[in-house]
Amino acid sequence: MALPKLLIRTLRPYIILLVLGMIYAAYQQLNKSEQSAYQQSFSNLKTASELIFSQVGAAASQLYLLDDSASISDFDNSAKNILQLTPIYSDIIYVNNETHQYRSVLLNPTDSEQHSEMSWHPLNSITSKLAVSSVYEKIPDVWVFAVKYIQESGNEIWIEFNLKYATQSLRGLKTLDHGYVFVVDGTTGRLVFHPDPSRIGSPSVSYHAGISELIETGLRFGKYEYYYKSQFKMSVFDGDNPINWVFISGTDRSDILSTSYQFSLTAIVIGSLLFLAVAINYLTYQLNQNLADLNSREDLADFKHKLRDILDRFCHHNGVQLCFYDADYGHFTTIDYHGNSNIVLKDKDLAKHFSPSSLSYTGKRYADPLAKKLQINSRHYTIPLFDKESLIAVIYMKATFPTYRSILRMIRDYSEVALTNLMLHKKLRSKDVMTHLDNKLTLRDKIDANIDKEGTYLAILDIDHFKRINDNQGHLVGDQVITHVADLMKKCFPKPNSLSLARFGGEEFCILFRANDENDAYEQCEMFRHLVEKSKIVVDDMPVQYTVSIGITSNTISQNIAIGRADKALYQAKGLGRNQVVLNTFQA
Ligand code: GH3
Ligand code: MG
Ligand code: MG
Repeated sequence: MALPKLLIRTLRPYIILLVLGMIYAAYQQLNKSEQSAYQQSFSNLKTASELIFSQVGAAASQLYLLDDSASISDFDNSAKNILQLTPIYSDIIYVNNETHQYRSVLLNPTDSEQHSEMSWHPLNSITSKLAVSSVYEKIPDVWVFAVKYIQESGNEIWIEFNLKYATQSLRGLKTLDHGYVFVVDGTTGRLVFHPDPSRIGSPSVSYHAGISELIETGLRFGKYEYYYKSQFKMSVFDGDNPINWVFISGTDRSDILSTSYQFSLTAIVIGSLLFLAVAINYLTYQLNQNLADLNSREDLADFKHKLRDILDRFCHHNGVQLCFYDADYGHFTTIDYHGNSNIVLKDKDLAKHFSPSSLSYTGKRYADPLAKKLQINSRHYTIPLFDKESLIAVIYMKATFPTYRSILRMIRDYSEVALTNLMLHKKLRSKDVMTHLDNKLTLRDKIDANIDKEGTYLAILDIDHFKRINDNQGHLVGDQVITHVADLMKKCFPKPNSLSLARFGGEEFCILFRANDENDAYEQCEMFRHLVEKSKIVVDDMPVQYTVSIGITSNTISQNIAIGRADKALYQAKGLGRNQVVLNTFQA
């Protein structure tokens, strides 16, 4: 299978497979990230609860110590010592079971301690004499919880923990980059720990957004996903402890996505691929659209404007010059904004220096004579345009840095086709199809363009007794005679002295040419008449000979007058017996 076809067939499945493969890999990675986020969250919960219970354990030892106090003053001294050494304790309370008296070691008010809503959770796993309270507000904005020890007598010793300090050891715990750990008192629904200390003591929104319901159904730990503050959150919770605290750890879903390296990479690669595909499609579409537009240009000036417009849109350049080449005369011409053409250089040899399909990027030093003439004095691209093997134009584009050759090649190829078509159309409109001589319209234009120019003459020639050739030898032979005359005209009146060789109609022709004077004009036509007389064409082994009559006049005053005078001279030549040249010497 041909490579382009193979590429076209395999490209789409390949991209689809690549994208699917990447999505699969990313999905796996995402799963892994999710799992590791859950694992991290669970281990955070474990660490958090261990930290808290180690503090409760430490408080228990202090309570045992206080229980051993021999006297009240001994108790107070030990308690003050403990409070001094352990800043996370906010107070130590002694409760007399019989009198229901609450005494603060620091002599703080004890109203909140006597609040009926406070509940206790005994630490039966250690001893039934120890219990932990729910969270309560000791004084405004100071939230505490207490660990109490019930003495043999029934009296109680409480150590109060200031939550603001007691739980700060949990601050270092987090899941992934933006995760969190917080602890809620299941009894009150208030935050025991939160990374933002000002939130401690306030009701937890997340807890009440679903976890509390799960716990109420009897579930002690598990996973929970919820939507909070326009973010999807994933979290794990653990309320499986005797003090009814719920430890919650988790992170945002976006955190999992951003830490999933492969997922982000896939998103970037797929995004880039899509962007590339869209960009290339857009560029190709735009380029094709613009280049197709070149084909509908009416004339060379219009073509030049469009080509410049395309180069402006698709290439970084510092200036563009387009030069047309006329192979007949060896002229390089430019066309100005209004469509007037100016010859820049006459150099047939330079045309040979260009080759089809070439596209060169050269510095100022290597500029060709045409580029120099056009003052292309910096780095530039030279893009010759060819109609098959013949040069038709050259594009020069100044560019400081190289540009995409594929785009330039595409522009060159389209321009070649468009310019060739444009020239062909121009030719078809201006030429006689059978003889490739100018047609009547072109001739009239050229007569006008050269009217009153010194040394310009107009000759009309007519094949003698052409009707007989048609009648005797057939129209096919008649046609061959017509083309034969055209060939001899081209041979006898080469450019640049011939300004137009035209078929005026039927077997009548016109020659607009330069001569030194009337005599020279006459001599040139006489030579031609003689050449026709001497030549013969052979059709089916039969020689065919014919003659022409010619009338000449100088190309002056007006187109109609010049044609009328030449026609009159031709008429005279016919009258004089044909195979003659007559010069109309009538002067205005
Ligand atoms: P004269 O010497 O007076 O010019 O005689 P003539 O026969 O050449 O002149 P006439 O104008 O009577 O005849 C011209 C003929 O040329 C008539 C027409 O049929 C023929 N003719 C015109 N165009 C063509 C053509 O393209 N091919 C052929 N084969 N014949 C043509
Ligand atoms: Mg005739
Ligand atoms: Mg004739």
